[in-house]
Amino acid sequence: MTANLLDYDLDTLALFCERLGEKRFRAVQLFRWIHQKGASNFDDMSDLAKSLREKLKGVAQVKALDLISQHISADGTIKWLFDVGAGNAIETVFIPEEDRGTLCISSQAGCAIGCRFCSTGHQGFSRNLTSGEIVAQLWFAEHFLRKHLQRDERVISNVVMMGMGEPLQNYAEVIPALRVMLDDHAYGLSRRRVTVSTSGIVPKMDLLSEQCPVALAVSLHAPTDALRDDLVPLNKKYPLDELMQACNRYLEHAPRDFITFEYCMLNGVNDQAEHAQQLVQLVRRYASAGRVWCKFNLIPFNPFPASGLRCSAPQQVQAFARILIDAGIVTTVRKTRGDDIDAACGQLAGDVKDRTRVGERIARQRNWTITPVPTGKPVVTEN
Ligand code: SAH
Ligand code: SF4
Repeated sequence: MTANLLDYDLDTLALFCERLGEKRFRAVQLFRWIHQKGASNFDDMSDLAKSLREKLKGVAQVKALDLISQHISADGTIKWLFDVGAGNAIETVFIPEEDRGTLCISSQAGCAIGCRFCSTGHQGFSRNLTSGEIVAQLWFAEHFLRKHLQRDERVISNVVMMGMGEPLQNYAEVIPALRVMLDDHAYGLSRRRVTVSTSGIVPKMDLLSEQCPVALAVSLHAPTDALRDDLVPLNKKYPLDELMQACNRYLEHAPRDFITFEYCMLNGVNDQAEHAQQLVQLVRRYASAGRVWCKFNLIPFNPFPASGLRCSAPQQVQAFARILIDAGIVTTVRKTRGDDIDAACGQLAGDVKDRTRVGERIARQRNWTITPVPTGKPVVTEN
C-alpha cells in the first residue's frame, strides 16, 4: 500500500525517509514541498535527488480529498464538500475577515455525541477522519486560495476545529494533524490561532494540554447539569463540575489565558435571564482570582427541521449578552457567516447518498452553473 504523506508530521516523515535510506534534511525538504508549496507530484520537487523522487513514486503519494462541490457565499465565505468514501462527505469552510483568514475544518464524518441542536449530531457517526484527511482540508484550501487570489504569502492565518465531528473523540489522528499545522516547515500557525472545539471530553482535554496545547473552545450551551444533560448528552459522563475543573487545569498549559465558551442560543430553552445569571455564578465559582479566565461566544442557533428548536430573537441574545458583560465577562455574539450556502455552524451535514449527483442537485436548486476543475470533477460555483 502506498503511504499518504499528508498523514505524517515531520518526525514521522523523517522516520519514513530514514527507512528509505534518506537523511532527515531530505524529509524537511519533502515536507516543505508538500505543505509550503502545495506540491503533490514528486517530479515537481526539483531540488530532491532524482533517485529519491523515483523511490517515492513507488511507495508514497500526496493524497488529496475528492472535491464534490464548492459554494461561494455573498459575504465571501467558501464552503467545500469533500467525498470521503462510502457515501460520506465532510465540509470545510473558509471565512475571510479583514485581519485574518479562518478555516473551519472537520475531524470526523458525522458525530457520535448527538447534541440536540446540531445537524451533524442528528446524522450519527460514520467514521474518524485520518490525520491525512484532516490536514488535506488545510492543504487544499491554502493552496487553492493562494492560486485564486494570486498571493505568494499565507492566506489562512487561523484554523478552528469546529466543522463536523468531535475532535477529541478522534484524538490519535487530530494530534499529528495539529503538529503539521503548527510546524514552521509546514503552515507555521501560532498555537493561539489554532482552536480545538470540544463538547467536553475531560480526559482528552488533559492529554491535549500536555501533548499539544492549542487554543481551546468548550461547547457549554447550558448553565446547569439538568439542562446540559438534555442538550449535550456527553454531560452525563462528564458533568459541569468535572468540565469546569478540567478547564482550569487546561489553562495552566494553554497558549492563551482564557477559554472560549460557546453557547448556542435556543429560544425558550437556554436563553432566559436566569440562565445568564446562573452562568455568571458558574464562572465565578471556578474562576481563579485575578485571571482572565473565559470568554463567551454566543452563537445564534442555525435551525434545521429535525431539531424542533428555534433561534432566539436578536433582542433576547443582546439582553443575555448584557447580563454577562455587566458581570465583567467578555462576551461576543457570533456573526453568522455563509448562511446563504448552509455553511453556518451546525448546518454542516455531509450525508451524500448519491455522490455523483449532489453537486448537480445543489446547482439546480440554486441556479448555479457547473464548471470543470483541473481534477476533472464537476465543481459548483455561484453564478
Ligand atoms: N464537536 C465540537 C466541534 C464541532 S461543533 C463541539 O461540539 O464543540 C462547533 C460548534 O458549533 C459547537 O460549539 C457547536 O455547539 C456549534 N453548533 C452545532 N450545531 C449548531 C447549530 N445548529 N447552530 C449553532 N451552533 C451550532
Ligand atoms: Fe458533535 Fe459538536 Fe455537533 Fe455535539 S455540537 S453533535 S459534539 S459536532
